[in-house]
Amino acid sequence: MPDVIAEARRLLATAPRVLIFTGAGVSAESGIPTFRGPGGLWKTFRAEDLATPQAFARDPRLVWEWYGWRRGIVAGCRPNAAHVAIARWMMLRDGVTLVTQNVDDLHERGAVEAARALVAEGLVVAGGERAALERAAPVRLHGALFVSRCSHCGAERNDREPVDASSRETLPRCSCGGLMRPGVVWFGESLPEDAMRRAFAAAGEAEACLVVGTAGAVHPAAAVVHATAEHGGAVMVVDPGPTAYDEIAEAKIVGKAGEVLPEALL
Ligand code: NAD
Ligand code: ZN
Repeated sequence: MPDVIAEARRLLATAPRVLIFTGAGVSAESGIPTFRGPGGLWKTFRAEDLATPQAFARDPRLVWEWYGWRRGIVAGCRPNAAHVAIARWMMLRDGVTLVTQNVDDLHERGAVEAARALVAEGLVVAGGERAALERAAPVRLHGALFVSRCSHCGAERNDREPVDASSRETLPRCSCGGLMRPGVVWFGESLPEDAMRRAFAAAGEAEACLVVGTAGAVHPAAAVVHATAEHGGAVMVVDPGPTAYDEIAEAKIVGKAGEVLPEALL
């Protein structure tokens, strides 16, 4: 095992409180494109031109077509070894908070796989699975792809239905008649208050922060990691490319999440 992974493993094992902060890269090995990497473009649009309230007001059909395409990709993907390793680790030790910028549901589905494995190994009793899943639930800073929200009354619902974006008339509607919108945070919108509060509270007291697969370019989410660094917590980064955190990182592990995390989180 490379020294840097052994060092990260030691720091993570000895820190009483750990924040794990994930971005699009943790899901890349599952086949979900990051926005900036290869395969991150849809038709000729950039994410920044579709993921905005203005784009939805102008052309909700186009925006729903894009989200329908993204839902289809995510539904056809499986959690990878990184999602499962994070969830397993959170189920077996105390003091870990997972904060994600992702809108996919792979952390949750990885937790289902981790809980099943622990039941099979006799480490979690059947029925205790529910509590195990709760322990591994992520704090979501940017909402969820499989949640829709009414643009009129604000009602939210879990929504895994395929979207018919063939015309404006076929788009999903609320019982109040309002047009539903994807339950994600768009560029220019504020982040959910409760999730921000929980993320910064955990970051402010964590002795270690493990950053996985995020360039650290999307604000204000990116500041969560700095909150740990500012009070003296150790920052560790797992990413094959450069990130905004490389300079403050105590350990930078250049590698893929699905290969590194099962070794680092033991
Ligand atoms: P980003 O696209 O800016 O950065 C992705 C990072 O992942 C890069 O640093 C890249 O080097 C790294 N990476 C690529 N493959 C990796 C691997 N196998 N293991 C580890 N790291 C890998 O993504 P971001 O920083 O998360 O910001 C983009 C925004 O877009 C976020 O708000 C995010 O919610 C959203 N987004 C979400 C998804 C998703 O939910 N899966 C996908 C695309 C974008
Ligand atoms: Zn409504």
